[in-house]
Amino acid sequence: MKYLSSYFTFVTAIALFFSFEPSSADSHENFVRCLYNYPDITNTISNVVYTQTNSSYSSVLDHTIENRRFSNSSSEPLVIVTPLDVSQIQATIICSQRHGLQIRTRSGGHDYEGLSYVAQVPFVLLDLLNLRQITVDEESRTAWVQSGATLGELYYSISQKSKTLGFPAGVCASVGIGGHISGGGYGLICVNAHIIDVNGNLLGRQAMGEDLFWAIRGGGGASFGVIVAWKVKLVPVPSTVTMFDVSRTLEENATEIIQKWQLVAHKLDERIIIRVDITRVNSNKHGKLTIQARFVSLFLGGVEELIPLMQNSLPELGLDRNDCKETSWIGSAVFNNALLIGSSGNEPPESMLNKTQIRFGNYKGKSDYVKKPIPIEGLRGLLRLLCDAKVEYPLVQLAPYGGIMNEISESEIAFSHRSQYIYHIHYGVTWQEEGDEIAQRHMDWIRRLYKYMEPYVSNSPRAAYINYRDLDIGVNNNGFTSYTHASIWGLKYFNNNFKRLAKVKTKVDPKNFFRNEQSIPILSVETIQHKRKQLKMVPQITLTNSYALHILNCRK
Ligand SMILES: Cc1cc2nc3c(=O)[nH]c(=O)nc-3n(C[C@H](O)[C@H](O)[C@H](O)COP(=O)(O)OP(=O)(O)OC[C@H]3O[C@@H](n4cnc5c(N)ncnc54)[C@H](O)[C@@H]3O)c2cc1C
Repeated sequence: MKYLSSYFTFVTAIALFFSFEPSSADSHENFVRCLYNYPDITNTISNVVYTQTNSSYSSVLDHTIENRRFSNSSSEPLVIVTPLDVSQIQATIICSQRHGLQIRTRSGGHDYEGLSYVAQVPFVLLDLLNLRQITVDEESRTAWVQSGATLGELYYSISQKSKTLGFPAGVCASVGIGGHISGGGYGLICVNAHIIDVNGNLLGRQAMGEDLFWAIRGGGGASFGVIVAWKVKLVPVPSTVTMFDVSRTLEENATEIIQKWQLVAHKLDERIIIRVDITRVNSNKHGKLTIQARFVSLFLGGVEELIPLMQNSLPELGLDRNDCKETSWIGSAVFNNALLIGSSGNEPPESMLNKTQIRFGNYKGKSDYVKKPIPIEGLRGLLRLLCDAKVEYPLVQLAPYGGIMNEISESEIAFSHRSQYIYHIHYGVTWQEEGDEIAQRHMDWIRRLYKYMEPYVSNSPRAAYINYRDLDIGVNNNGFTSYTHASIWGLKYFNNNFKRLAKVKTKVDPKNFFRNEQSIPILSVETIQHKRKQLKMVPQITLTNSYALHILNCRK
């Protein structure tokens, strides 16, 4: 990671070499030519460029398309670049601008709406699959991890260095570091990052400044540049942790146990987390459809301590010693991932390195945040909707807040969802059968469910989690998007942090090169005029957005 300083001078030279006037008439051939002629590229770039006529194009595009809903999209990239180093990313950013192409950056490809590899405009896919280096430093309890690595690879690398260090992030091993951390990942601990900005500069924390470093921790990386690597802080974990996975159906009082879970989950001992996965199953006893709630837990300690703790706080679950499994921290990561992919959970830690992507089929997800427990009648209605046999695989996951989330202020990083919530809801529906009508049926169902939940969840704004991306909550315009327009979705993801995100965006990417359907907008003339009114100033001329903002700032 010591490549920073040499690239600053490199970039200055590049800036002189090229002008930045984009021309949409330019074809992707010119973009490719620009890459091939780019000065000072360290590795041979032709080996990592795939145009649509390249025989490997489809397999490279497809290899991390997590959601099959987008696997046959007509909005494919004109060119895919899989950089081996920083200079190739810099060249891609500069040449894309020069030839009027947009960029979509992909790390693990798990974006729920496919925004990392699908676009309605001509674009280049920058796929970071070759940038997955991980360096764990046990002594300082930190790790540098490149964006193209997966959570599974990070967990595995940590476990190879220490049995008593861990990293609190998502449960799915194939999720990419790049998207997960920049989307907040439940407020992960990051102490540094390397980002390449719109001018091709490679910036560490000091050079990017605290505003940008604040923004990329939860504000989504795609609006600000290409994040090459993160330095994350590891947390101490005991050598023995305990897992359990206990299921209860409606006939076994699932509704009442969920009701009690709502009251206690966010107040439990800080060493325990209990998530609830609710879905529809065939009841063994009655041979008919029923609802099953799966209580999945990680406890940072041994089973002897866990049992009395559970008897005190959630006796309704009836947790038995035989339901529990003592393991190492990496064992718990394997166990958690296994629940998701349907394997036994007894796989070795090396299973976390499995690069073969598990495809969950066609998928649509949404999210909500809850401030106070949902009354039992409300819960019953939710469970009734899950019983709808017309959808293939519905899933609702409840993840408790509380604990450390309560100790961090809303504005500490761009990820703003903190002590105001007691838990988080993730709604999902998956289907295997292809066809527009089938897809529509599943989309309609999850939208109906979301509508039903409205009275029970946060409002004004109805909070949502950017890592469970949902374009239903609002999208940017195709051309210019005002801050007011983007606030429709932006306040839901970022609440009071949205304005600051827009300010950072205006500063670091004033021409809005890094954009997508839900990228942070730049503060526009509209916002500036509003500011002028506040300052009792009358605008004399129409100024371009960033220039106007600059003048306004100078006059203050
Ligand atoms: C099966 C599955 C399980 C999941 N489990 C969890 C979980 O347990 N907990 C949780 O919090 N979330 C979970 N998620 C959500 C996941 O955290 C987000 O989808 C996350 O954004 C995925 O990151 P990615 O790199 O894999 O995705 P990508 O699709 O590659 O990227 C997502 C977004 O980030 C941008 N981006 C990616 N890399 C970079 C980069 N290097 N620089 C700038 N921008 C970048 C992309 O352009 C895109 O907008 C899960 C998702 C799936 C599909």
